[in-house]
Amino acid sequence: MIIKYRELPAKINGYEALLKRLSPRHPKRTAIKTSLHKARADYGGEERLDEALYFFDPPYAYQMIQDFSLDGPFKIQVDTVLITQSCVILLEVKNITGKLQFKQNPSLLHTISADGEVKSDTSPITQMDETALRVEKILRKVGYKLPVSSIMVVAHPSQIVEEVPRNCRILAVGDINFYLSTLNLPTPILSVEELHELGKTLLTFHQNVPAFPLAPKFQIEQSEIETGVFCPRCHLGKMERTTIAWECETCRLISRNAHLTALDEWFMLLKSSISTAECCGFIGMTNLETAKHFLLKNGCQPVGGRRYRHYTRQ
Ligand SMILES: [Zn+2]
Repeated sequence: MIIKYRELPAKINGYEALLKRLSPRHPKRTAIKTSLHKARADYGGEERLDEALYFFDPPYAYQMIQDFSLDGPFKIQVDTVLITQSCVILLEVKNITGKLQFKQNPSLLHTISADGEVKSDTSPITQMDETALRVEKILRKVGYKLPVSSIMVVAHPSQIVEEVPRNCRILAVGDINFYLSTLNLPTPILSVEELHELGKTLLTFHQNVPAFPLAPKFQIEQSEIETGVFCPRCHLGKMERTTIAWECETCRLISRNAHLTALDEWFMLLKSSISTAECCGFIGMTNLETAKHFLLKNGCQPVGGRRYRHYTRQ
């Protein structure tokens, strides 16, 4: 059974918010758009894997974790983890258009786009082997001696894969259900109870790799980020505070909570904390006391003494 489902990566919303709050001619827009495009393509590939495994009903007990990650020191990210009584299989999705060539000595991946442009990157096989070793180590640490292997899943139908190293397994997303369902698993090492226990233990280890704040990652200064509350309907219009709500200057939408998105965007883009003065400046409030109540009401906790008090959110 699936014990953790995949969610839309928060960084996709973050890149979109960053683009919305940068001037149309900002020099970093291209780099942010590239990151957004890649994040969407990765997520699209992972969703295709989830769809392909929708009817997964193998003749063996299993636990499945969609999107498993650990921050340092292990630093791993696995698209899908399949835990069985006799082994663990890591599924890593690649969703790239064009031709993929695996190069040996040293191991590299060459991606050749439709217009012939060649990009060289770390081989996903090397990354998968390294991740498998780390997962094996984590399992041993918690008392489970299970072998760990990986499969690369090709999600894009027009992807051509060449020069695949002999010892690695690459499957088209459409083949994955049949392959995993008809696997000849070795003799079980774990009982079904131990399998469930291991699934639970791994879930307690899962932690999202911190993606925010984004502006410093792109070397963008706070002064370059546009402040204010944006309209949730037309996305371009700024909203003005009326006595009880927010009103869009462009499409005249009235919203009571559009400023909540602006607070989310502060944490996604700028800093992991906010002061009442910063809240007033960014959201467009005029009263420090109102800002304090707004922050406390929306999941922020005060940190520090009265003079240097700021607010953080988990
Ligand atoms: Zn509007």
